[in-house]
Amino acid sequence: MRAMMMREPVIVECDVVVVGTGAAGMVAALTAAESGAKVYCLSKMPYAAPSCTTRAFGDMTWSTEDTEDELFRQVVHTGGFLSNQHRVWRFANEACRAPRRLRVLGVQLDEPRPAGEGMPGTVRWSYRGTDSGQELLDVVRAATMPRKVGFLYDHVATEVLLDGDRVCGLTAVCLKARQPVILRAPYVVMATGGGAGIFARTDNPPGTTGDGIAMAYEAGADIVDVELISFGYPQARVADVLERGEELRADLLELGYAHYFLGGMWVDAREGSSVGGLFGAGEVTGGLFGAGRLGGSALADCMISGREAGGGAAGHWRDRLYPPELPEDTLDAACDRIETILRGTTHPVPLQERIREICWRGLGPVKTEASITRALEELEVLSPEIAFCGGASREDIRTAVEVRHMHTVARLVALASLERRETRGCYWRADYPEPDNETQLRNIILRKGGGGPEVTSEPPRMDRLREPAPPRIGAGCFGYIERETPRADQG
Ligand SMILES: Cc1cc2nc3c(=O)[nH]c(=O)nc-3n(C[C@H](O)[C@H](O)[C@H](O)COP(=O)(O)OP(=O)(O)OC[C@H]3O[C@@H](n4cnc5c(N)ncnc54)[C@H](O)[C@@H]3O)c2cc1C
Repeated sequence: MRAMMMREPVIVECDVVVVGTGAAGMVAALTAAESGAKVYCLSKMPYAAPSCTTRAFGDMTWSTEDTEDELFRQVVHTGGFLSNQHRVWRFANEACRAPRRLRVLGVQLDEPRPAGEGMPGTVRWSYRGTDSGQELLDVVRAATMPRKVGFLYDHVATEVLLDGDRVCGLTAVCLKARQPVILRAPYVVMATGGGAGIFARTDNPPGTTGDGIAMAYEAGADIVDVELISFGYPQARVADVLERGEELRADLLELGYAHYFLGGMWVDAREGSSVGGLFGAGEVTGGLFGAGRLGGSALADCMISGREAGGGAAGHWRDRLYPPELPEDTLDAACDRIETILRGTTHPVPLQERIREICWRGLGPVKTEASITRALEELEVLSPEIAFCGGASREDIRTAVEVRHMHTVARLVALASLERRETRGCYWRADYPEPDNETQLRNIILRKGGGGPEVTSEPPRMDRLREPAPPRIGAGCFGYIERETPRADQG
């Protein structure tokens, strides 16, 4: 029995739900629809609102058929050997086919130019103009027009619905009608982008709040290496990163900004998660780039993983019995949680700001065990207020949903950070300033257990490059910290 519903939910049936209308979501929706699936694609933002994709400069790193081995090698080295090499191999293979596919869609690519220093052998392709992320989206969206894709803007997703251990749908709130919407579907593709917006300082648009990571975690999916987040810095200030300890930490808190989530939903090489029917695409996923990525590889990943995830979801839908079971108690509980938000009395905006400050100070560019532990404690104190936050306006409802997701993601980042006791790639610990291949060459996995998040770790999948070099310090796309005596692998 549902508790005092203000409004009955709208129930929509389809084959595949895609959450997110950035590059990864658009490509996933297009690919699923091309297979004949009925697809709904939703965004919590209005149609023209910025996403990371619309902000992107448009550089893309691709390989040619002659350089796919080299691209593979560079992705693994840049990631400090934490990548799932099975995924990287697929990425490198697909990367040489992607430019032709984009051209067929009508995307106008510049002539390829060699990638910058530190990336010999790969070929970087770029779009024209500075608004090229937007241009890319416009072209892909236009290609979806003749297909069976329903776009739901201003719809914020709240949770993945399960029947046993399989997906049976997704809940969202229609922000205009202030009404719960249930998308009943056997396949969900999460394409909600990263979570750099959990930090007070970021170059991401404010809606990049890690929602998909939180929803996947709550649904029981494995979350991998979520502590690996790249931060941008003025280069001159980081040259002496390892020597200046606390003083440097203060500088970076003033000058740095969160840029990209390297970790996220664990997915296999076909973008399927550990939960049946749940796929991931784009920045929401983890495990491909390890602890650092090549500049321009994020958009390439969106193109490739979007296609895999959309194709993977649609490839199965014909085999399923329709529609999937939607257990009534699951539906009622999800609707009750939405009701709590719609009736919420605590204003979500100040809570969101507090989470961002806590994350920046405790989990930002350079962490220590003390800063992480303090952040966890401060996040815990917010829990009771978060339970009652909500409101009536569109902005308040969206923010209240984000606050819940951010709170979950922030705690996962903190727990995984406590576990990674080293400095590697983009991940910097003032109390463990060196990379440690002896004990820390491992993927950190978080999974929802009965008593909260359970933390485990396992060695990264090393199918091809089995002898890890000493990893570099730096995010890859923002370069590396140069040491006085370069290491053997720094060529
Ligand atoms: C300033 C900047 C420049 C960059 N330049 C480059 C570059 O030149 N080359 C490159 O390769 N990479 C670049 N990147 C990185 C790249 O842009 C991103 O990694 C990539 O665009 C992410 O795409 P995505 O589709 O995964 O997510 P996004 O583009 O972030 O889209 C996420 C979508 O999910 C929706 N969403 C989120 N939560 C919910 C929810 N709860 N309910 C419903 N919808 C939801 C959002 O509204 C949005 O539509 C840049 C990033 C930034 C910030």
